[in-house]
Amino acid sequence: MDSYWKEVEGKRLHDPLTQKQKHGHPVPQIWVQGPLIVGVGPSGLATAACLKQKGIQSLILERAECIAPLWQFKTYDRLRLHLPKQFCELPLMPFPSDFPTYPTKQQFLAYLKAYADYFKLNPVFNSTVTKAEWDERCGFWRVKAFVVGKCVEYFCKWLIVATGENAEEFVPQIDGLEEFEGPVVHTSSYKTGGEFRGKKVLVIGCGNSGMEVCLDLCNFNAFPHLVVRNSVHILPHKMLGRSTFGLSMCLLRWLPMRIVDQFLLLLSRLILGDTSRLGLHRPKLGPLQLKNLSGKTPVLDVGTFAKIKTGKIKVRQGVSRLSRHTAEFVDGSVESFDAIILATGYKSNVPSWLKESKMFSEKDGMPRKEFPNGWKGECGLYAVGFTKRGLLGASMDARRIAEDIEVVWKADESALMAFTHSSVLPQSRVQRHD
Ligand SMILES: Cc1cc2nc3c(=O)[nH]c(=O)nc-3n(C[C@H](O)[C@H](O)[C@H](O)COP(=O)(O)OP(=O)(O)OC[C@H]3O[C@@H](n4cnc5c(N)ncnc54)[C@H](O)[C@@H]3O)c2cc1C
Repeated sequence: MDSYWKEVEGKRLHDPLTQKQKHGHPVPQIWVQGPLIVGVGPSGLATAACLKQKGIQSLILERAECIAPLWQFKTYDRLRLHLPKQFCELPLMPFPSDFPTYPTKQQFLAYLKAYADYFKLNPVFNSTVTKAEWDERCGFWRVKAFVVGKCVEYFCKWLIVATGENAEEFVPQIDGLEEFEGPVVHTSSYKTGGEFRGKKVLVIGCGNSGMEVCLDLCNFNAFPHLVVRNSVHILPHKMLGRSTFGLSMCLLRWLPMRIVDQFLLLLSRLILGDTSRLGLHRPKLGPLQLKNLSGKTPVLDVGTFAKIKTGKIKVRQGVSRLSRHTAEFVDGSVESFDAIILATGYKSNVPSWLKESKMFSEKDGMPRKEFPNGWKGECGLYAVGFTKRGLLGASMDARRIAEDIEVVWKADESALMAFTHSSVLPQSRVQRHD
């Protein structure tokens, strides 16, 4: 171990990041006694709270300057939780009873702030993790981060990836996109249809966000055209007086998924009619089976479909090319537009900073193992919130991770304490965070 720390010191001196540090100060090295969590969205908060409840203090690094920046800055004004609140609450703290079934984004944010306060979670903000790798020699994760503009290196035994499925905007390759002269906005920057009043807007992507943005545009007297490139399941938000999600969960307790799918599709047909007549073709697999196999979420209709029926929202097939003011569609038609909204989703950023490819796929930055087994890797590596099952999936991961770490924590606690106080660590350079 002694030679290991000598080598760390040697590498530190030759590390370009070290040399970039101003005034010749060396990169501070901090030993984290508990788990290190990267990201403080709902998943990071849930995991830190579950750990805290077990007496395990974690260190949370967050690149933004607040908790849940996705919800604070990258969501539109009219957003409410898509699923009823009982399926969205984080572990150990229910939503306030006076919250509506579908809390608004402001209510959800207030809940997250109260959650962080209640569990006394104090993330280190403005801290972007740029690299994390397992160091075989010492048996720790080495995590490099820019903390308020300065490079810091952390050493930890447990690394919890909570950077989310929505870390970066995804923009597909669309011919001519850069030529288009009107505004091109990703849904992460879209706030309200008020900015598009009277404008003809092309909305590319027909997931829950794309559909809801179209409705919002209509409500502000804009003229949206929705691009539906592939097949999509659109389901009523409510069925038989219950939320469609709640009803599905209930039926799945008694019936096979295939039968529940048939039931959902029958009710959808009765309530919405034949969606394919309006250009919204259904996939061959049922909505739950498709979600289970591919993670593709069905659209829960909040009023968009009625606007499609009345022709206020036009459904278009795929775009083949964009030019300065127009879009050419795969059916050969060409039409002019004032603006484009990209409802094309997000992607994980894990491969950009985690130097590991066994647990996470380098292709899409998602765990290689299917739900419910994607939460645990090797050498104390964990993933929370990568289940394609929203907040419910994140809560399940958070509980499992805390339980798993607790087992080792209890066994290790005394040994760890002895280690931190031993003389092998160069105490002058390696600080402790506990
Ligand atoms: C518009 C929208 C509506 C949604 N509605 C629902 C819903 O109603 N119900 C539901 O269950 N799910 C919903 N989801 C899905 C999901 O639950 C949310 O995306 C949720 O925010 C995921 O939480 P998270 O903590 O996993 O990820 P995020 O909220 O994205 O948090 C990840 C955090 O990691 C930080 N981070 C990323 N990279 C780094 C780095 N290198 N260093 C440091 N920090 C980093 C980010 O800044 C961020 O704060 C919705 C998603 C979207 C986009």
